[in-house]
Amino acid sequence: MPAEFSFELRVCAALEADWPLDDRDTEFFVARQLGTQRRRWDTLILEVDPEGFAARARFGGTRLDPNLLFVCRHAPADWQYYRDALPEGEVPWRYVRETIHRGAARGVLEKRKRGGRIELRRKHAYPDWVERIVAVENKPDLDASAARALSDQLERDVALGLADEVWVATESGDRALYEEMPVEAGILVFEDGDLDVRWHPRALDPARPGTRILDRGSDACEFEYVPAERKAKLRSWLAERAYERGWRSYVDTMRPDCRHFDLRRAGDGYVPYCRAKGREQTAGECAGSCPEFSPEPPQWRQRGWPIEGGPGQTVKRVLDDRRERERRG
Ligand code: SF4
Repeated sequence: MPAEFSFELRVCAALEADWPLDDRDTEFFVARQLGTQRRRWDTLILEVDPEGFAARARFGGTRLDPNLLFVCRHAPADWQYYRDALPEGEVPWRYVRETIHRGAARGVLEKRKRGGRIELRRKHAYPDWVERIVAVENKPDLDASAARALSDQLERDVALGLADEVWVATESGDRALYEEMPVEAGILVFEDGDLDVRWHPRALDPARPGTRILDRGSDACEFEYVPAERKAKLRSWLAERAYERGWRSYVDTMRPDCRHFDLRRAGDGYVPYCRAKGREQTAGECAGSCPEFSPEPPQWRQRGWPIEGGPGQTVKRVLDDRRERERRG
């Protein structure tokens, strides 16, 4: 049975190849290890509006952080004093000014000074590009205690309703464990590279207010109300981060510059493989602190060796190219 990290990459690759799992026709991309301050999901699928998605590309491959997103959403088509153009109260003015300078330096909006006042105008209208967000929790080895912990987590996801659907992906064929899961969560069994739907999820409603479960003590459950507007913001911040990262960003934190780093074909994608360990390594162990880490010889990194840099650069380039291709849809 593969480790969770390796299982997760295989699930991401299979979802990228097979989504949607019904007969809808939709554009989408896959991202991993993203969430809010309080909750991180293993895998996210973002279904997108094709025109909006193409329009989003004009803002570049790097995410717009919350302040920059606020300014880009409200930037006017014609020059205007920023305090007249942008809604007051959402972001303090001193941060707005800093964000306008940053946005102009990045080329996503324009600024000028008139009579001592900062004016701005947009270069492009920021589009509504996200249609649906699907969250998948990966648990290859779903034993009884993992099933209990996961069902508690999924009940919280369902109550909050930030995603449009939630799923569990597992290798376990033990149907009794599926009964632990909330009925709203879909169940996918991933075996030998194939995704098999064992339970269809119920659609959640992100446009409605949600409930955040804070504490499920034995006597009373503590929770807080999350307004629909707050959820919409969390979704748009999540979407921006997913757009930047995709699911191949593990290459940014692992050590493809180690001479033992390799990629191996696994189903519909690639997974990292360590030639020194003779197995797939986890993201955590593939770091500069790894006792077997051995940097690529300098001549591998020189431009043009043997063709456009050494193996580490090639791995990064291949994965970055794939990430960019997914962004282009
Ligand atoms: S030896 Fe360590 S750093 Fe090098 S590829 Fe293997 S796990 Fe990564």
